[in-house]
Amino acid sequence: MKAKWCCEGMKHSYEDRKGRTIFAFAIEDPNSEKASPLFWLGSRAVEQEHLGKINFKSEFPVTMSTRVPIIYCPWCGVNLAKHYSKSYGMLVDSSLETIG
Ligand SMILES: [Zn+2]
Repeated sequence: MKAKWCCEGMKHSYEDRKGRTIFAFAIEDPNSEKASPLFWLGSRAVEQEHLGKINFKSEFPVTMSTRVPIIYCPWCGVNLAKHYSKSYGMLVDSSLETIG
C-alpha cells in the first residue's frame, strides 16, 4: 500500500525541505521506546547546503534556521501522528535532525 500525503501543502513543503523556505518534516522520538515521530515546521534563510558556510558580520543576532514542533498539518489541519502513524518515514530526513 502506498502511503498518502495528507494534502498537497504538506507534500510540497517536504519536497522543498533543502531550500530557503518553510518546510515540514518528522524525526523519530529518541525518548520513545516504540518508534514514534515528532513533527516539525522548520524555516531556513539559506539553502541547507550553505548553512555551515555563512560568513558575514552583524551587530545583532540573525536566525538562519529554526524549527517548532507541530501537532496538526499547517495546511489541512489533519492530526499528523494519526495520519502518518504507519507512514511517518516518508517525512523523515536525517539530515534535518541537527537544524534549529
Ligand atoms: Zn495536510
